Amino acid sequence: MLKVKDGKKKDIGRGLVRMDPVDMDRLGLSDGEIVEIKGSRRTPVRLLAADHDDCGQGALFLDGLTRGNAGVALDDRISVHKVVVDFAFEIAIRPLTTMHLLEKDLDPSGLKEKLSGLPVINGDRIRLVLGGGRDCDFQVTSTKPGGSVMISPASELIVEKPSAGAKSDKATYKDVGGLSNQLQRIREMIELPLRFPQAFLRLGVEPPKGVLLYGPPGTGKTVIAKAVANETDAWFTHISGPEIIGKYYGESEQRLREVFEEAQAHAPSIIFIDEIDAIAPKREEMGGEKQVERRVVAQLLALMDGLQARGQIVVIAATNLPNTLDPALRRPGRFDREIAVPIPDRRGREEILQIHTRGMPLARDVDLIRIAEVTHGFVGADLEALAKEAAMAALRGIMPSIDFEDFQVPYDHLRTMEIDMKNFTAALRE
Ligand code: ADP
Repeated sequence: MLKVKDGKKKDIGRGLVRMDPVDMDRLGLSDGEIVEIKGSRRTPVRLLAADHDDCGQGALFLDGLTRGNAGVALDDRISVHKVVVDFAFEIAIRPLTTMHLLEKDLDPSGLKEKLSGLPVINGDRIRLVLGGGRDCDFQVTSTKPGGSVMISPASELIVEKPSAGAKSDKATYKDVGGLSNQLQRIREMIELPLRFPQAFLRLGVEPPKGVLLYGPPGTGKTVIAKAVANETDAWFTHISGPEIIGKYYGESEQRLREVFEEAQAHAPSIIFIDEIDAIAPKREEMGGEKQVERRVVAQLLALMDGLQARGQIVVIAATNLPNTLDPALRRPGRFDREIAVPIPDRRGREEILQIHTRGMPLARDVDLIRIAEVTHGFVGADLEALAKEAAMAALRGIMPSIDFEDFQVPYDHLRTMEIDMKNFTAALRE
């Protein structure tokens, strides 16, 4: 058994895992061989030697995308099996993104060139770099034959239309910047009980049912909740306080009950309640007209008390204002763990900027450290907006050559387009 560790950025989307050559020898595997790794899913990957510094740890290095395909999480112990892969004679993929895709981006012959040699299985998620350096994720929707296959230049590639509402919001821990302490605590509190409920039962420790994340808007509370759900393969459902309150008489409680029932049916699950302060203000602050809130809080408490203490359903609630919450919600067995999600410091801002410029073609002069220094007070959402604004500034730079009639950016422009420091400075002035 080898311990799962995070792979290198450069390997993302290449269907690779890395391992100490000594372990390879021991397991009778060889460099470059296709193997299958298996957690709650299985996926074929190509085995390569790990960098020298990574050897001697009994570890297997997988990037987040591959971990998702195999259904394994960091620190899991997994085994690696040899597998025979056939060449695919047909394979269908579908883009998983809402970004604007050009017809040229989806041209099967161009994509096939990039995909040749990649081992996949139906349902895998794959990542390709398209024109302009943009990352785009696709899902494999069918292969012939079935099972683990290798894409070859002779495979027929079918590119399906993006499905309506498709979103690439599969956040992983890598998408959360500057909050490593918080993530560490969240993983202990939520990931461990979700994944090893027996261990908690055996030790007689009650896994938490509710965790309260508090901090200013846009600091990453939602991203954290989604990342934990994805990394643990838990079902994720998201409701917001104002949305529940906005219902008609009796409907609010009904909606809450439905959410909990659904989560129970799909356990292990994470229920994320955003802006919980809207449904659960302190009772003394609820006058006569606050009857709805009163009933909704009572319902929420009843539902949480009714959750079996198996750690298989965790309710994560987020608020900007922890002190305005009904104290009944913070008693033991309810939201009894709290994690502050602060405004990022300089290092945090740098990490967040790196995350949000990941798929962007940055010019060499772009100095993210410098940008992090001058963006004091910016939260994650602001930094994300800044990166997008810089991209828009770059686009405006080539505007004269965009043909509005045709509404497409010439492909050559896309290929050579870059975002430079001037674009960021312009974005900062906005
Ligand atoms: P909150 O739930 O705290 O109001 P969100 O998690 O919804 O904030 O964040 C809003 C957006 O800002 C997200 O889409 C995310 O991309 C970005 N963001 C916020 N905080 C971070 C962070 N710490 N790391 C990376 N991205 C972040």
